Amino acid sequence: MIIPGNKKVDLKGLNGRNTQQWVEDLGLESYRGRQIRQWLFKKLASSFQEMTNLSPSLRDLLAEKATINHLEKVRTQVSKDGTEKYLFRLRDGLLIESVLIPEREHYTLCLSSQAGCAMGCAFCLTAKQGFKRNLSAAEIVDQVIQVKKAMPHPDLLRNIVFMGMGEPLANYHGTLGAIDNIIAEGGMNFSHRKVTVSTCGVAPMIRRLGRETTVNLAVSLNAADDDTRDLLMPINRRFRLHSLISACRDFPLPNRRMITFEYVLIKDINDHPQDALKLVRLLSGLRAKINLIPFNPIPTMDMSRPSPEKIAAFQEILVDNRFTAIIRKSKGDDISAACGQLSGEEGFRKSTIKLANNSYQHRILV
Ligand code: SAH
Repeated sequence: MIIPGNKKVDLKGLNGRNTQQWVEDLGLESYRGRQIRQWLFKKLASSFQEMTNLSPSLRDLLAEKATINHLEKVRTQVSKDGTEKYLFRLRDGLLIESVLIPEREHYTLCLSSQAGCAMGCAFCLTAKQGFKRNLSAAEIVDQVIQVKKAMPHPDLLRNIVFMGMGEPLANYHGTLGAIDNIIAEGGMNFSHRKVTVSTCGVAPMIRRLGRETTVNLAVSLNAADDDTRDLLMPINRRFRLHSLISACRDFPLPNRRMITFEYVLIKDINDHPQDALKLVRLLSGLRAKINLIPFNPIPTMDMSRPSPEKIAAFQEILVDNRFTAIIRKSKGDDISAACGQLSGEEGFRKSTIKLANNSYQHRILV
């Protein structure tokens, strides 16, 4: 990829084939491409000077023709539950966030695919800041690289989810380019079974993702009828539930894989027993796993989380109908790193104010 105003190639954004082509065009042997990729994606090098199995003159040539851009780490916040939120500054000054989530035996990294988001979902903080721009493949894959560099045991990072800021299928080119380097053996070598793209429901791009990749699909459903979904997610006016579900039915699912459906439970909006029954009907016959996400509070937003009893009752209906349905713990909510809480903002400090029995996030300008 060429960065405007800087005509050098950003090597983290090229896939294996294009890197090979690029080194050959420079008159070099093709194995140099593999060596460079090993430095970038395995040894996490941040400059050509670190590439010590290349001669100094070759390193100089590469530095003249290409760059190794990297995200600037502005801040890391650590939650009580061990979740870490990274705030990164892009070269043009925009800010994005990535979230590293500890599981029992490994870590999951939640990536951003865009700065801001254009999808306008009513319950999501990222939506409130609007759309800034798509991230390049290099900027997406570099989130993995920078977080790995900061981890004491980088090999424990096993899962990659596109569930941070932005809509990955509205940035198909950047997302696919990043996936390419994340799963390539000569790239970061993650298992394709451990990479999940989450979408608000861009139906035609779900079909394309199914044709062109073997990664997992997650769909943020959040409602099981068009009227409720129209209220929550503007994308539903473009791609109605029947076309979204039809794209899901056609999504190739090898072996025992399933599609994950995320369902943010919002009090009095989509949490009634009838909603659970509608969900059962909508997903019938699909190999589906349902992730119930109790609504995470967003400042100034007039929505709230259902009671634990209501959430449990909703889950029970799904389980009684033989769906796998889990209630997702909102990890990192004390540092606003939970689902829907990413704002990519600097200069704000969050303090938790106790209000009656409720604690909620309040932002004050430092
Ligand atoms: N645009 C993609 C990727 C973002 S994933 C998508 O929509 O799937 C972010 C996930 O967080 C989505 O499942 C979304 O439904 C969920 N989410 C957004 N705001 C939330 C909130 N306030 N509380 C809980 N989950 C939320």
